[in-house]
Amino acid sequence: LRMVSSQPLDNEPVSDEELRPHVLDGFIGQPRLKAQLQLFLEAARKRDVPPDHFLLAGPPGLGKTTLAMIVANELGVPIRVTSGPAIQHAGDLASILSSLDAGEVLFIDEIHRLPRPAEELLYIAMEDFRVDVMVGKGPGASSIPLTLPRFTVIGATTREGMLPSPLRARFGFTAHLDFYPHEELEKLIERSASVLGVTLGPGAAHQLSLRSRGTPRIANRLLRRVRDWAIVHDLHEVDVNAVRDALALYQIDSEGLDRLDIAVLKAICTNFAGGPVGLNNLSAMVGEESETVETVCEPYLVREGFLIRTPKGRVATAKAWTHLGLEPQENDVN
Ligand code: ATP
Repeated sequence: LRMVSSQPLDNEPVSDEELRPHVLDGFIGQPRLKAQLQLFLEAARKRDVPPDHFLLAGPPGLGKTTLAMIVANELGVPIRVTSGPAIQHAGDLASILSSLDAGEVLFIDEIHRLPRPAEELLYIAMEDFRVDVMVGKGPGASSIPLTLPRFTVIGATTREGMLPSPLRARFGFTAHLDFYPHEELEKLIERSASVLGVTLGPGAAHQLSLRSRGTPRIANRLLRRVRDWAIVHDLHEVDVNAVRDALALYQIDSEGLDRLDIAVLKAICTNFAGGPVGLNNLSAMVGEESETVETVCEPYLVREGFLIRTPKGRVATAKAWTHLGLEPQENDVN
């Protein structure tokens, strides 16, 4: 016999969707960006036109998709979500564009990875609200211009520098997301805990926030792992020890560095005598895509002072050596 309850079970997965705030007011932190968006949305409302296209730039997991959804929700319009790598041919993009409703938001994640022909099609669509649809094949093919209703493109990118300038020029502004300070992550963790029905003991949210790499996505992920720990150990609330023990199990260290971060720092220190080492050599050494090392690992390591980027390559700082418990080596560059 199964017990039936209207309450969700403790271990029932709550999707990321349920942790998403739906209005700008519910979005924690990033005060400047919120003020920029507020002004932008208010002006569009007053003018009664869809807002300009804009770009969200910053490391993964900081809430770019969430913000795009909030914007669509605040405007009361539907949102279509796609990504650079999902669009293989210009035709894929043409068919999305030609099916957009008036005012709709088109969110293109990883927009720096759009194939070239699609990018060119997008320029025209963004500027002139027009798309050329190809009819037929081979020498008999012709293109028919199709007028589109006004819509808003929100592009997201982890590598703003990779965006060709003609594409960048078509966005009304670029909003930069930065890593979250601990106090903001603490608020976010408390909010997520209440959505997930997790009771946090004194100091637990703070401890989690210190280890979340400044990133909401990681904070939410760690919160779930800590919740698992509490369930398995029959704890009524997640205390500071549960946070420490659970995260030790998942190899998250006291600075919030994960396995890949540590692998990168270790490789620089032990395999390349502290650097400088080029991105490709470094990535090969840790067995990871260079884009992942560059966009996921490095921004945080640089910000926290474990690594510096020099024209000759990546160099580990004294803080990195100390954190790894290693003696800095005499290095040719020093
Ligand atoms: P990105 O597109 O930048 O990679 P995302 O928008 O897909 O990230 P995640 O970063 O995966 O969102 O966020 C994880 C969860 O944390 C989501 O449920 C998201 O809504 C929530 N979240 C992210 N940023 C904030 C924030 N500033 N305030 C409240 N919740 C947030």
